[in-house]
Amino acid sequence: MGLMNKITGLYPGSFDPITNGHIDIILRASKVVDILIIGVAENEKKKHLFSLKERKNLIEGQLNKNKSRIKNVKVVMFDGLLMSFAEKVNANLIIRGLRAVSDFDYEFQMTGMNARLNSTIETVFLMASERHQFISSRFVKEICMLDGDVSSFVPEEVHAKLSNKFNIK
Ligand code: ADP
Repeated sequence: MGLMNKITGLYPGSFDPITNGHIDIILRASKVVDILIIGVAENEKKKHLFSLKERKNLIEGQLNKNKSRIKNVKVVMFDGLLMSFAEKVNANLIIRGLRAVSDFDYEFQMTGMNARLNSTIETVFLMASERHQFISSRFVKEICMLDGDVSSFVPEEVHAKLSNKFNIK
């Protein structure tokens, strides 16, 4: 592939908060595209634990920590329609992580609709690694709220911020 045809991948999500599963996808995605944009979504309908800025900062902290393994990755906040944002940042590819069964129906529908909105932008799926198959931001929050141990699901910086949110020592 020549320099003229750089591939920009967009990995969108809520990242509320970023987990080891997300980080695994970021590391793997950064190897298959030239530029990776992590799109942190503000979705009015979803009730987030962390603010948009907090979610972005947590992601950037992890990129910093892994900077020897990744290059050309940046984090951008967006609201509104994913496909409009993808067009704005000139993304050629949308990247999503796919966990067994649970993600399929939702992702299948969303990808189908997005393809109707802009058929030139493909969505590709990276299968969740075996180790991270069961990790979701939602359950991480629930477990942490109940004072369970989430240290094998999220990086320690994220764990610390979660404990703060829930006033856990
Ligand atoms: P959204 O609200 O868009 O689903 P999430 O932050 O929950 O945002 O997820 C963003 C993307 O990361 C989705 O494609 C999701 O399937 C993927 N993902 C989430 N957790 C994991 C995981 N443990 N392993 C692989 N991919 C994951």
